[in-house]
Amino acid sequence: MITFNHVSKAFGDQLVLKDFNLTIPRGEIFVLVGPSGSGKSTSLKMINGLIQQSEGDILFEGENIQSYDLQKLRWKIGYVLQQIALFPNMTVQRNIAVIPEMLGWPKQKIVKETKRLLKRVDLDPETYLSRYPSELSGGEQQRIGIIRAIIAQPEIILMDEPFSALDPIIRESLQDLVVSLHDEFKTTIVFVTHDMKEALRIGDRIGIINDGILEQVGTPQSLVNNPETAFVKQFFSNPE
Ligand code: ATP
Ligand code: MG
Repeated sequence: MITFNHVSKAFGDQLVLKDFNLTIPRGEIFVLVGPSGSGKSTSLKMINGLIQQSEGDILFEGENIQSYDLQKLRWKIGYVLQQIALFPNMTVQRNIAVIPEMLGWPKQKIVKETKRLLKRVDLDPETYLSRYPSELSGGEQQRIGIIRAIIAQPEIILMDEPFSALDPIIRESLQDLVVSLHDEFKTTIVFVTHDMKEALRIGDRIGIINDGILEQVGTPQSLVNNPETAFVKQFFSNPE
């Protein structure tokens, strides 16, 4: 469970998050959706300690994340970004092995699980294990990024607009992949997007953020049926 308790964040004199209150239960796919500059990435980066809040507390399983060793915290948290973040000088196999190796998994187990997951995302291990990131399409790179994030079964995966650079068809198939991997691993996923359609497709619950304010949180159905603010209403009538 992740809890934001009266969290605010200022950069200089610009207040970019305002009294953010939110609880994300374990195992949920929570989607934070809102326009560019509304504070989505900032919120996400506070969960793994890349950005520190100015006020309030962020709790992970009831414990303040400021009391965690940051290195250890990040081992519990996978992170997938819009810009491809694979290591360019490492093969697919080595990229995926980074965290399991740090955790001391036996080599055989790493190879076996890597092959299983590659097949799971429709990439033939024989073809792809020895390739470098530059030899993959954007969609393939993101699939490897997702495997890398999920293989060691982190407690949380943070995804920051991972598919926004991809074409609509690949996007939808990767959205479905996230949901199906979630069904298998039951990892808590916090997914950031500016695309309402994407949010509705994958979210167990959705939070709508506008100008640093969390306007409404609810299931896709409850948001569609009962938008509580003018912004939420307009966001649904005008999905990007
Ligand atoms: P996008 O959809 O464009 O990625 P976002 O919702 O992720 O937008 P954030 O990156 O969280 O938005 O930024 C929120 C606000 O905080 C923006 O006005 C941005 O300019 C500002 N901001 C973000 N990071 C910093 C920083 N390191 N220093 C100063 N201002 C920042
Ligand atoms: Mg962002």
